[in-house]
Amino acid sequence: MGLSIAYRIAEGGCDVTVFEQRNIASGSSGRNGGQIIQLDGRDKDPESIARRLLYAKENNKILDDLPHELGCDFELNRCGSFDVAFTDEEAEELNNLVEIQKKAGDREVEFLDGEEVRRLFPVLREGVCGARYRPTDGNLDPFKLTYGLAMAAKKHKAKIFTHSKVDKILIENGEVLGVSVMGKIVKAKWVVNAANAWAPILTPEIDILPLRQVAMLTEPIAPITPSPIETVIDGDVIYTTTQTKSGNIIVGGLRTQARFRSDHYREDVSPEEIQGSTSIISRLFPSLSHVNIIRTWAGTMGFTADGLPCIGLLPDVRGLVIAAGFSNGMANVAIVGKLVSELILCNGKTSLPLDPFDPSRFYKKKVDWPEPYNYTVLAEFLKKL
Ligand SMILES: Cc1cc2nc3c(=O)[nH]c(=O)nc-3n(C[C@H](O)[C@H](O)[C@H](O)COP(=O)(O)OP(=O)(O)OC[C@H]3O[C@@H](n4cnc5c(N)ncnc54)[C@H](O)[C@@H]3O)c2cc1C
Repeated sequence: MGLSIAYRIAEGGCDVTVFEQRNIASGSSGRNGGQIIQLDGRDKDPESIARRLLYAKENNKILDDLPHELGCDFELNRCGSFDVAFTDEEAEELNNLVEIQKKAGDREVEFLDGEEVRRLFPVLREGVCGARYRPTDGNLDPFKLTYGLAMAAKKHKAKIFTHSKVDKILIENGEVLGVSVMGKIVKAKWVVNAANAWAPILTPEIDILPLRQVAMLTEPIAPITPSPIETVIDGDVIYTTTQTKSGNIIVGGLRTQARFRSDHYREDVSPEEIQGSTSIISRLFPSLSHVNIIRTWAGTMGFTADGLPCIGLLPDVRGLVIAAGFSNGMANVAIVGKLVSELILCNGKTSLPLDPFDPSRFYKKKVDWPEPYNYTVLAEFLKKL
């Protein structure tokens, strides 16, 4: 997000400096599955569906032009996505959800029966009872996209400092003064906190929860249907990006160790997690059980208590913007860059309203998060709110 925002601000002709504590794409933007799922999860609230779609559609439009604009092929592939049901009850739930989404104005989503799903995705195991399908979802290479944004921002004279940790945001008399970067003061009229899972360390007034996820990459194999999959295995919600352009399969998420808040920043991967992710392949694609795993990793995303990110000015402090709390960042990265740059460059006038993401909804409010937690626990927690 930080680089998408910096790119748009620099493109708008304004001075911008990015401070990154490690390297470009070292956060979750370089560690995710690259799925672009416009309506992830099983949200049943028509208003929220309509609102989320509005931003996801705009994001899609910008993403489509971005390879040309950045001069960077980040392997955008609109190959559709499946939310797969393996029981009749779940299929009925998805069918109902598709009807709710359609009524909320979603013209693309459809319910496919098990036979149709297997026809489109023959490598999926037998016993598929149906799926929610969106043909315009897909995937991209998040690492390439992040570097593409960085290079394009630099072309527009943005300064990017890596291995430069912001220790503190400097505020005086209700106005932002700049940041302290490893003890050195850097003055700025505007500061954007785009540290996602680490954002609450810099702005503790907004409680964003870190959520660790694990992913795994196989050796390259012959082409299969490359679409992302969302499904439930052993009661756990998992997301699987199937095939990248180079032929590798990315899967992850099963048996991720539910841990306490500080553990969600850990980047080591336990044998149990590797086994869990490996078993996704044999359970979803049994004919691929022989394929070798060549790499595993973990990353940390951010979650807010309503599942929507916080984007906008912090109350009480002039010039301090937050853009954090992204659990599904690839479906937002392009539109967030545009809207935050407009907020700063156009006197607060944005081409789409930022109200649904207003940070004041969480300002200085303590959230009673469940502990220990993982993705599934949080999804259940959000459903009950
Ligand atoms: C394993 C995994 C799989 C995922 N799969 C998908 C997917 O398929 N599709 C999808 O849409 N989303 C996915 N996500 C979520 C997605 O990665 C995030 O929503 C998105 O990358 C968030 O982008 P961001 O720029 O806000 O955060 P980040 O990319 O984490 O960027 C924040 C940056 O801030 C830096 N930082 C932190 N503190 C400081 C400081 N004090 N000073 C300077 N720099 C600092 C960090 O080093 C980091 O680079 C996945 C996440 C993980 C971990």
